[in-house]
Amino acid sequence: MQTLYLRPFLLYKKTSMDLQLLKVCKDFNTTKYLFELNDGNKIETVCIRRRTGITACVSTQVGCAVRCAFCASGKNGLIRNLTANEIVQQVLSVRERVNRIVFMGIGEPLHNYASLIQSIHILRDRNELNFPTDGITLSTVGPLAGLKKLREEHLKIQLVLSLHATVQRVRDRLIPGMKNNSIEETVNAILSYGKRHNRKITIAWLLLPGINDSPEDKKRLAQWFNGENVRINLLPLNKTMANYPFATQKQLRDFKKDLEHLGLEVTVRESQGRNIQAACGQLAIR
Ligand code: SF4
Repeated sequence: MQTLYLRPFLLYKKTSMDLQLLKVCKDFNTTKYLFELNDGNKIETVCIRRRTGITACVSTQVGCAVRCAFCASGKNGLIRNLTANEIVQQVLSVRERVNRIVFMGIGEPLHNYASLIQSIHILRDRNELNFPTDGITLSTVGPLAGLKKLREEHLKIQLVLSLHATVQRVRDRLIPGMKNNSIEETVNAILSYGKRHNRKITIAWLLLPGINDSPEDKKRLAQWFNGENVRINLLPLNKTMANYPFATQKQLRDFKKDLEHLGLEVTVRESQGRNIQAACGQLAIR
């Protein structure tokens, strides 16, 4: 099985790079890299420096078909999938010593399933990059077909589900590309992945006052996740074209406290790279 995934990396080593670095922008602890692909399309990769090391946030597609209401990456829809080599080469081309990789850049990773899985095998291969599985995180809006396939892989990577709503109507508005995926089934599928692979699941929740912060939302989150190996990660909205309300620090703190009273584990993500348009939802094809 392993040699199947070795081939593209060996091919990569023998051939020229598929990415050309065009531009580097730096903020306090965030660096954004703009790459040009061989066909002229451009993608972005972000490196974030933390106390624990450097995380590379890689792209998996040029554009994105999901068109989330709060995200610049899907504004013009999908142009094409990246190849496994184009995904791996982002990690190799940033000028930093990366110890974590998150599939959280441009694109929905599970919509480019074959290249995603191939790239993970290349990254983990002991004879090649030998990247630890624990250091790989996949962030997804949860297309059911992809989640179910991923559950059956022997990968044990960390998973983040961008949920953002407990009501189908609200989720359909925020994440139009997931209209045919029921919220309940998506929640069950992600919990099933966590149990099978013994992994803590992170639920990303973009807090939008008046849209997804009602007492009923809190109750449903508690019903779904209380007693499960799950952490809720609250995010403030980053500046994109989206015309949505921003949560204040107090609103984030209050929502966190309420969920904690309902027995949930909750963190608030400190967004980095906003000044260079490198934070979540701000990456775009240039
Ligand atoms: S948030 Fe992710 S899935 Fe949604 S449009 Fe942006 S890149 Fe696509």
